[in-house]
Amino acid sequence: MTLYPIEAGNFKLDGGAMFGVVPKAIWQRTNPADATNKIDIGMRCLLIEDGGRLILIDTGLGNKQSDKFFSYYTPWGDYTLDTSLAKHGFHRDDITDVFLTHLHFDHVGGAIQWNKDRTILEPSFKNATFWSNANHWQWAVEPNAREKASFLSENILPIQESGQLKFVGLNGEKKSKESELGFGIFYADGHTEKQMIPIIKYKGKTLVFMADLLPTVAHVPLPYVMSFDTRPLLTLSEKELFLKEAADNEYLLFMQHDAHHEICTVHQTEKGIRLKETFTFKEIFNS
Ligand SMILES: [Zn+2]
Repeated sequence: MTLYPIEAGNFKLDGGAMFGVVPKAIWQRTNPADATNKIDIGMRCLLIEDGGRLILIDTGLGNKQSDKFFSYYTPWGDYTLDTSLAKHGFHRDDITDVFLTHLHFDHVGGAIQWNKDRTILEPSFKNATFWSNANHWQWAVEPNAREKASFLSENILPIQESGQLKFVGLNGEKKSKESELGFGIFYADGHTEKQMIPIIKYKGKTLVFMADLLPTVAHVPLPYVMSFDTRPLLTLSEKELFLKEAADNEYLLFMQHDAHHEICTVHQTEKGIRLKETFTFKEIFNS
């Protein structure tokens, strides 16, 4: 198995919304805000090459939305999903599986594109199976008023219409050791219903794709919970459970939304769980 971090570009989100009840006087020290109070956010995906399979975890924002939409989210940076795949010798048509942690637009937007004459929305990965789970899918296609702006039907329904959608099996466990994709999954319900956190054994280590359970390294202390989360108290207990396990077992936490840090570790201190170290992917895996 070989892993590749894939940069799908960066954008910006309101710093206040990203840090919930934490005051700006504190969060701006680690995450400086621009004139409109927005902070840097990454959209780092992960590519798993395993036997004949090429599995992409999440897809970024994509490029089909309106100029008005993009003006709210301020994309920036040098990389796109395509240039980042090409850097490792891959093309989007090589992807056999797209694993979607959840269906918020900054995770699934890149899964769907306009066709050549901009008349039909189609999967951007024509040879891939798209993976979600039944509970989350149902939650996303009948969105509550709070998450409606994050679950865009144009990102979701064309996946189903293409016939390329599959669900991982759910058996009520909070954590599965091995899924249909070959890696373990932690199911987190605080951010949204049944967000899937991939847990990957790689080169003798455990690498966890943290997605929105831990968006940036600044979110390690337990009360640092995004305002976007639908069940913040549940996020608190899920973070406590998972970060304790991560500290005890020296998990490498792969950061999807931290524009400036790829991997971090955490440890137990007298104040609680705190950030231990940050690394680039290359520093750990030499690739
Ligand atoms: Zn999300």
